[in-house]
Amino acid sequence: LQAETQPPHPAVIAHRGASGYLPEHTLEAKALAYGQGADFLEQDVVATRDGTLIVLHDIQLEPVSDVARRFPQRCRADGHFYAIDFDIDEIRQLRVTGRDSGDKGSGSVYEAENYRIPTLEEELQLISRLNRATGRQVGIYPEIKHPQWHRAHGMDLTRMLIEQLAGAGYRRYTDPVFVQCFDIAEVRRIRDELGSALRLIQLVDASQTYAQLLTRGGLAELTRYAQGLGPAYDQLVAADSSQGKARPSELFSHARDAGLLLHPYTFKRQDLPDYAPELESLLALFLGELRVDGVFCDFPDVAVAIRDAVSTTGHTGGKAALVSDGFG
Ligand code: CA
Repeated sequence: LQAETQPPHPAVIAHRGASGYLPEHTLEAKALAYGQGADFLEQDVVATRDGTLIVLHDIQLEPVSDVARRFPQRCRADGHFYAIDFDIDEIRQLRVTGRDSGDKGSGSVYEAENYRIPTLEEELQLISRLNRATGRQVGIYPEIKHPQWHRAHGMDLTRMLIEQLAGAGYRRYTDPVFVQCFDIAEVRRIRDELGSALRLIQLVDASQTYAQLLTRGGLAELTRYAQGLGPAYDQLVAADSSQGKARPSELFSHARDAGLLLHPYTFKRQDLPDYAPELESLLALFLGELRVDGVFCDFPDVAVAIRDAVSTTGHTGGKAALVSDGFG
């Protein structure tokens, strides 16, 4: 029985909800991800002018909404409509039109529908309601977006988020939440200055910004305050990997040696690598062979199916052994 109360491993993190099926970060996309069996639902968090936290990927509103049509005078000189220049009552008037994929040209694929930008509170209430209704304990995975931008506009986004989470009952290390951020100093600050006990994931990419952090010494220091690393999945396989010959990267080995959780992003159907030309084979590689601890995926149902398939074939999900001869 005790094993059944443990969260599934590896964890399926619904990236902006079931965003492969419905417009990202709408409550509809979150409810679908919940129903598809995701273990965690991701929230990107930004602040409005009146200090309400909303769930939105960018600090600008126009990439996913009709803000330019409803409030044409409200763009800055750079042509962007920033969430921090709008009150929540105005945000509530917007309709989510969907992210412009570039090939359709208009960014209005959901224009005739009725999707909204939710507040963080609304989303936490939805998840809480679903957890009570189902008896599951699906977790949350908020990302602090651009904390320095918010600070420059008088908002301590990180403190606001940590306080709101505490008010909603997310306070302890064991509560079903990971807090994520790309800002290195800000992740450390959550632990050292704000004194939060929540589990922390340092997001990284392949840029120079993270070169020192991703050395053996840097990762050892990271373990003092964070539980894991959220890299691009490409960072975890060797650069010369080809189909059927994917090998773990040096970073993968170093992070495993440091004992850090690995939650790579983003598993979707676009821009697939040569070493795994389908989403399914890519997930099988990371969940079944590399055995990472979680995946950010736009298609939670696919990730859950592959996670469940590989976890019934003998893998323990424990600290991964190094794979020396490739995965496949
Ligand atoms: Ca995110």
